[in-house]
Formats: sequence, C-alpha cells, structure tokens
Amino acid sequence: MWENGWRDQVWGELNRQWDIIIVGGGITGAGIFREATRAGFRTLLLEGQDFSSGTSSRSSKLVHGGLRYLRHGQLKTTLASVHERERLLDEGKGLIRPLAFLYASYSGDKMPLWMLGAGLALYDLFSLHWGHKRYDPHGLARLTPDLSQSELRGGYRYWDAQTDDARLVLRVIQEGVNAGGVALNYARAEGLLQRANGSVCGVKARDVAGECQARATEVEAKIVVNATGADADRLRSQLDMGARLRRLRGSHLIFPISVFPLKRAVSFSHPVDGRPVFALPWEGVTLFGTTDVDDKNEAPVEPKISKAELDYLMAAVTYAFPLLEINEGDVQATFSGIRSVVDSGKKNPSQESREHVIWSESGLLTVSGGKLTTFRMMALDALRKLGVRPTRNQRIKHRPVLDPVELPHESSGLEPCLRQRLLGRYGRDAWSLITTAAPGELTPVDEALGNRVLWAELRWAARAEGIVHLEDLLLRRVRLGLLLPQGAIPWLAQIRHVVLPELGWDDQRWDVEARAYANQWRQNYSLPSPAKRHLVEAA
Ligand SMILES: Cc1cc2nc3c(=O)[nH]c(=O)nc-3n(C[C@H](O)[C@H](O)[C@H](O)COP(=O)(O)OP(=O)(O)OC[C@H]3O[C@@H](n4cnc5c(N)ncnc54)[C@H](O)[C@@H]3O)c2cc1C
Repeated sequence: MWENGWRDQVWGELNRQWDIIIVGGGITGAGIFREATRAGFRTLLLEGQDFSSGTSSRSSKLVHGGLRYLRHGQLKTTLASVHERERLLDEGKGLIRPLAFLYASYSGDKMPLWMLGAGLALYDLFSLHWGHKRYDPHGLARLTPDLSQSELRGGYRYWDAQTDDARLVLRVIQEGVNAGGVALNYARAEGLLQRANGSVCGVKARDVAGECQARATEVEAKIVVNATGADADRLRSQLDMGARLRRLRGSHLIFPISVFPLKRAVSFSHPVDGRPVFALPWEGVTLFGTTDVDDKNEAPVEPKISKAELDYLMAAVTYAFPLLEINEGDVQATFSGIRSVVDSGKKNPSQESREHVIWSESGLLTVSGGKLTTFRMMALDALRKLGVRPTRNQRIKHRPVLDPVELPHESSGLEPCLRQRLLGRYGRDAWSLITTAAPGELTPVDEALGNRVLWAELRWAARAEGIVHLEDLLLRRVRLGLLLPQGAIPWLAQIRHVVLPELGWDDQRWDVEARAYANQWRQNYSLPSPAKRHLVEAA
C-alpha cells in the first residue's frame, strides 16, 4: 500500500478540499480516521513523525476493561471497555490475545481481597465469561513459583487481553486507507489555517521526512481534528486557548524471559506507595511497569525513563520476585510514554481522571486522553460531536471494529499459529506478505530467544509499510528493538541484507540510518545513566 514513491504521490494529492483533516497518527487519530472513512468522509490523516511513534507504541499493551475504573465506581466506563475488549478479542485474533492475570495480595495491601473479588465478579459479568478464581498463598505459589511467599495473603486469577499497540494502530490506519482515506507520516501540521472569523479551516503541513524539508503546503478542510495526544495543548495554543492537559510519564522495563520467566501476568501493589504495578509476558520478553510521574519536558524531547523511575520499578521487582535475584544489569531495554490527562491540580498524578476528553474550539476538535482499548468509542464520540446523525452513527456502531479478513485456500498448509499471527497483524496484506517472502523467510529472526518476528515481516514492512527511518522498522513495524538484546543492533547486518533492496537505500544512507537508530535506542530505550553504561558498551 505504501510502496516506493507513495509519498510523492500523496503530497501531489494534498491540495484538494477535505471533509476532515486529522492531526496525529496514534490510536486516537487512527480510530477517528477509520470511522470517518467508514462514514464516507473524505479524510486525511497527518502524522508529524511515524505512525504510532507517540504514546501509542509505548503503552503497557493491554486491551483491558480497566479494574481501576471499577475502584472509582465508574461502572459504565468499565462495562463499555470490557465490551470493546471482547470485540477486539473476537475480531483481532492474532493481534489481540487473552492474557491471564494473577493479582497477588500482600499484608498491608490497601485493597481488601473481598473488594477485589467483588470487582472481578462484576468484570466477569460484564463480559459474560466467569473466569476469575480465588487462590490461597499455596495456590498462587503453584501457579507462579518465583513469587515471594513472605506476607502473601492470597489473590485472584482473572482475564484481560494484550496486543502489539503499534501494529494495532497501523492496522486501523491501513483499514482507513483501504476505505478511501489518505494517511501520511512525517507530515507535520505546523499551524492552523483560520477564516476571517477565526474559525479553523485547515492546516499548514510540512514534510519532515528528511530529504524534503522544504516541501510544505496549506491543506483545507471543513473540520480539523487535533489528535496529537499529550501535545494537544500546543495546537490549541494557536487559538489562544489556555493549557488544560497534564503530561504524565509512564515507564516500563523489559527483561529477557530467561531472566524473568513468566507464564501469566502478575499484578500487585507497590511496597512503597501502594500503586498497582505488573509484570507481563509479551512477545517472548517480560515487561514490568509502570510509573506515573509528571513529565515537565516539552515535545519534541523523546520521553525516557529517569533514574528515580528505574529505582522505583526495580524495588517492586525485587520485592515480589526476590528468588530470581534480578538486578539492573538484567534490564534488556526500557521505554516511556506520556499520558495526557485533564489537569485538575491533584497532588497525586495517579488520582487524575483517565477518561478521554473532547473539546470543540473555533472549529478545532481536540480529542485526547482515554486509552488504547476504547479507541473506537472515542472515535464514535468524536463523530457524534461533529454532528454525524445518530441513526447513521448507530449503524456504524454495530459494524465490526476491524475488517474481517481471510487467507485464500492456497494458504491451508501454513501452521495455524502463523496464519493467525499474520492475519491479525497484517489484515488484508497478510497474503501479499506471504507471497513476497523469499525462501526461508517465514521463520523467526531468533527463535532461540523466544522471538516470533519473521524475516518475511521485515521484508514486507520495508517494502510496503511507509518506512522513512530505520527506527520506524525496528521500534514499531516489528518490535525487534525491544525484543532482542541491545536493541537488535548485533542483528543489523542480517537485517540489512533483507530490507535494503526493498527500502531502495544505498550503503551511505544505511550507515546514516544505522547510526541514528543506535543513538536513538541508547538515548531513549536503554537504561538511564550511570546504570546504562554496560548496555552502551555492549552495543
Ligand atoms: C505508560 C502508559 C501505559 C498505558 N497503557 C495502556 C494500556 O495498557 N492499555 C490501554 O488501553 N491504554 C494504555 N495507555 C493509554 C494509551 O496508550 C493512550 O491513551 C493512547 O496511546 C494515546 O493515543 P493518542 O493517539 O491520543 O496519542 P499518541 O499516541 O501520543 O499520538 C499522538 C500523535 O500525534 C503526533 N503529533 C503531535 N503533534 C503533531 C503535529 N503538529 N502534526 C502532526 N502530528 C503530530 C505525534 O507524533 C503522535 O504520534 C497507556 C498510557 C501510558 C502513558
């Protein structure tokens, strides 16, 4: 879909009259793009960096009902989130999968077990699956032998789901493109166009892909949607609107599964402040998160973990998993994302509401906050605000979230797991990916490390997924920068062999990209100094 030459073609087509321009290609912008194209609007999505390069590739990757909402008595929000989770599980097999959680309760835990049990019963009722079960400390130890037994009171097993967040965004955007929309990455909205009465009627867009910095144009539309996530105040400020959002940073640690083996997710309260933290098995590694701290940096500074966050997360790891004797040196990678919440001035950031907000100001519709899981609900709310008639909207609501896809009969020899993975992640493109793979490329890059990314996925992403920089490939299209040691830098020579002919880069461009990628990874995806010394040296 985004094969060689596509950027020039799209830039050539920007100067038409659009119904809707969406600024921001994270999950919020992607969801609105998808639903707007479904509803028949001529829709353009402009992403200033790479698709999903903001918070939407840096989440905990959970598709969840949100037990947190239940704790705050927000039953309606939980019910709606659970419904979205169930739909995504049903329609996005291979991309969204069920995940068993164990909640381990230690003495001193603020939440009594009976209260958690009541919440989980509601959770199950909402999804019409009775899946939670109470365990005594021995039962929990049988399920997760490495969990600390000291002061353990017992806990629960329950079900949620997880995904690859960046791939979910891409699938949703691609479905919007298939439905007639146009989406462009590395196209920054530098300013808003306004009519004489001040109302917004378009954006000034600039190509920031590297080579064509000079390319810029004014693009007009009836409606402009600001889906720039934690940066939303920046676009609003051009209308002299005061800042309303608070930027909260959440960071994660990634461990190799050999160091931190886990079959199920484990959640517990942090020993210092009682906040819930969790360890999740994901794509052959273990994620541990997360923090929730004010982020005072302004974009374009990339978010990264601080030493204080690292210490906070490591304290929780060693508290609940002392037998594993994990230390900082075992951290394979880190990542941080910024959450936007409405600033109500609460002292404790974790007490700010996580609900999404929609503000209509002088023709600019800002949609921010919320969560990955509920992207479709946010999109439908946004369309409603734009006056899409309820009857029409109602019909949209009952359509599938993700387009149904099937592989042709010739693919019947493929292993069922592989079929599912490719269908879930690549949707309609799955068959093209399979047929363009060179012999031997339908095998994982490094199976020994528990990794399931195929060489064929790298080739396909390089050929048809709008890659502008090497980091787009390694951090978002396939997640090797997170899944392999040292940001996959030791694998670069092999990766180059597969992707270079598809990207059409010469050796010099490759070298520049490889250096920029290594720099990006060391700066923002490894450990904060001084702990990162060993990783940088190794890489
Ligand atoms: C640590 C953490 C963990 C989370 N975990 C979960 C989870 O497990 N499950 C869940 O459901 N939710 C989770 N969330 C919430 C969820 O990740 C976010 O709500 C969601 O990703 C926000 O998406 P977005 O599209 O609004 O913002 P973003 O993903 O940040 O997208 C905004 C985009 O706008 C672009 N942009 C900015 N300015 C411009 C401009 N001028 N021109 C063009 N483009 C521009 C940026 O480059 C960016 O790509 C988590 C959030 C955090 C912080």
